[in-house]
Amino acid sequence: MPVNSPTVIATDRVIIVGAGLGALYAALKLAPRPVLMISPEALGQGASSAWAQGGVAAAMDAADSPEKHAADTVGAGAGTVDASVAAHVTSEARRHILDLTTLGTPFDRDADGGYVLNREAAHSLARVVRVKGDQAGAEIMKALISEIADTPSVQVLEGVLASGLEVKDKWNPQGDIELHYSGLRPGEKLYEELLIGEGSYETDHERINKANEIYLPWEDMIVLLDNLDAASDSFDVKSIQELLRNAPTGYVPTSKLNDLFLKKTLANNLRSLH
Ligand SMILES: Cc1cc2nc3c(=O)[nH]c(=O)nc-3n(C[C@H](O)[C@H](O)[C@H](O)COP(=O)(O)OP(=O)(O)OC[C@H]3O[C@@H](n4cnc5c(N)ncnc54)[C@H](O)[C@@H]3O)c2cc1C
Repeated sequence: MPVNSPTVIATDRVIIVGAGLGALYAALKLAPRPVLMISPEALGQGASSAWAQGGVAAAMDAADSPEKHAADTVGAGAGTVDASVAAHVTSEARRHILDLTTLGTPFDRDADGGYVLNREAAHSLARVVRVKGDQAGAEIMKALISEIADTPSVQVLEGVLASGLEVKDKWNPQGDIELHYSGLRPGEKLYEELLIGEGSYETDHERINKANEIYLPWEDMIVLLDNLDAASDSFDVKSIQELLRNAPTGYVPTSKLNDLFLKKTLANNLRSLH
């Protein structure tokens, strides 16, 4: 609907604004309750969900647990993660991966039928399920859209943009949408996805860019981590710096080593000599 000629739609259905993964899944979970889903573009297009590549984190391995997943999440967030939200999301993750599998998502499997799990930054264990390598978002969307097509309770309005909704806050208590900030800076996710690397590039969708992230194959990464581990064990700061300098991390030291631990040790040694 063109923005300059808004049309008011009256309906008794539950209205879901948007048609990304969250919206499609919610619509399916609400069935058989009648739902009206509003999608600005053809279903499957214009949602960042279809562009997600890496996969979905969930404690699927027998050695893993939601508690470990939550602890890694809180640790990686360095103060920005609400621990109760992390506990809730990680405890639900496995159930939803199994559910998405039932709904037809062809997650990558190993020879024994187990989920292929990638290990990504900040996770202490391999726990990212993937689909056809790097097609997780597109493939999950495809499975859910196919399920939506078979769900008569869901009505989809394509080519429609919701407008006129107002933020509800202390200045506008009659507003429609109340925002709860979880601790992330506004735009944090966008920053993480697009600006953290230098070379984000355009896609064939005018509103969606992709990040060009530094990538080290796991077999090289494990060697680097082992070497870093060994250098750390022997407090070999110079080797640690050299390893990081040679790794594709973009790390370029701008000043001399400032090893506080070494300085403290030397100071203690000097003191004990006197
Ligand atoms: C390039 C990229 C890679 C990513 N990789 C990963 C990954 O590997 N793993 C991971 O877990 N996450 C990843 N993410 C993040 C993940 O894709 C998102 O967190 C997730 O898809 C959000 O789902 P959503 O349904 O909330 O939103 P979206 O999928 O963005 O859906 C929002 C929907 O709302 C619609 N909409 C917006 N405004 C209006 C309006 N006014 N009226 C009607 N509809 C409206 C949009 O058109 C869209 O359909 C990635 C994101 C990007 C962009």
